[in-house]
Amino acid sequence: MKAIQISETGSADVLNLVDIPKPTPGEGKVLVKVQASGVNFIDVYFREGRYKADLPLVLGQEGAGTVEALGPDVNNGLHPGDRVAWCGVLGSYAEYAVVPASQLVHVPDAVDLKVAAGVMLQGMTAHYLSHSTFKLKSGDAVLVHAAAGGVGLLLTQMATRIGAHVIATVSTREKAALAREAGARDVILYTECCFDEETRRLTDGRGVDVVYDSVGKTTFERSLNCLRPRGLLALYGASSGAVPPFDLIQLSTKGSLFITRPALGHYIHTRQELERRATDVLEWVERGQLKLHMEFIYPLARAAEAHRDLEERRTTGKLLLVT
Ligand code: NDP
Repeated sequence: MKAIQISETGSADVLNLVDIPKPTPGEGKVLVKVQASGVNFIDVYFREGRYKADLPLVLGQEGAGTVEALGPDVNNGLHPGDRVAWCGVLGSYAEYAVVPASQLVHVPDAVDLKVAAGVMLQGMTAHYLSHSTFKLKSGDAVLVHAAAGGVGLLLTQMATRIGAHVIATVSTREKAALAREAGARDVILYTECCFDEETRRLTDGRGVDVVYDSVGKTTFERSLNCLRPRGLLALYGASSGAVPPFDLIQLSTKGSLFITRPALGHYIHTRQELERRATDVLEWVERGQLKLHMEFIYPLARAAEAHRDLEERRTTGKLLLVT
């Protein structure tokens, strides 16, 4: 089968299209014929070696397709031909992937497999951020950084549906239009002005209840300035680089603030939680209540181009590789 493999870590140049044997599913595992694989920032971290894994490695942590074969002891209602999706398991940049049955969810017939592949990781991330990390309610004010990005557009839609006042940050006017379409009431071009001052102005000096910050290094300090007393900074990513060491006394002086550094894995820890979040997200898509922006679709062989586009801030919404 064809797959995108790395045998060393580094820039997007290390992504190679290779021919390797189709894998065999072991106990409790399932062989899936992949139709689409999601591209996520975490794939860049694995490629760069920031996250460790044995080499050679087939990249990719998210996909959707049809069940090809079952390994021994798979007994959770899966059958060959079933339409399934998953995330959090390495190896999706390939024509076939082996996935533990416990990580697979059924995809409703009305949901396109490409869409399913695209909403698993970022959709469930937006879900836990808005429903668990900080359980939004109507009237809350929130700041969503990189709101035209993969997680950003989904999070903006979810927060808006709950009735929150979404203030979005983006780098370009084109991205601003997308954030507004997703429901953001206010959009700040954070490359052109101080987003903390602007956020305070937009909230009549009060500050927002929560900041969802996926950008990290370049936004972190100012994100803290945007919060109301006892507000929460959910620092869930580091697209601009890692946040340097931080003196905790600032949490006190800036208003008894809270910070969390959440990860999806801890919010879909049990089968029950995975099913609850995946079902919500897939149902919202099915009912048209959650839209996936899928402008960036690449053939599997062009994975390196997808990585470059993502890292160089050229993309909006979801990036997919199709087989
Ligand atoms: P995005 O589609 O949001 O792409 C990244 C965006 O970040 C860019 O489009 C850009 O938007 C913005 N950005 C700002 N500064 C930079 C920079 N220096 N380099 C590159 N991009 C920059 O990606 P994802 O939605 O896939 O992921 C967003 C972040 O969330 C990632 O850091 C990812 O690791 C993290 N994440 C964390 C999860 C968790 O559970 N903790 C789960 C999923 C994702 P603009 O041009 O508008 O500034």
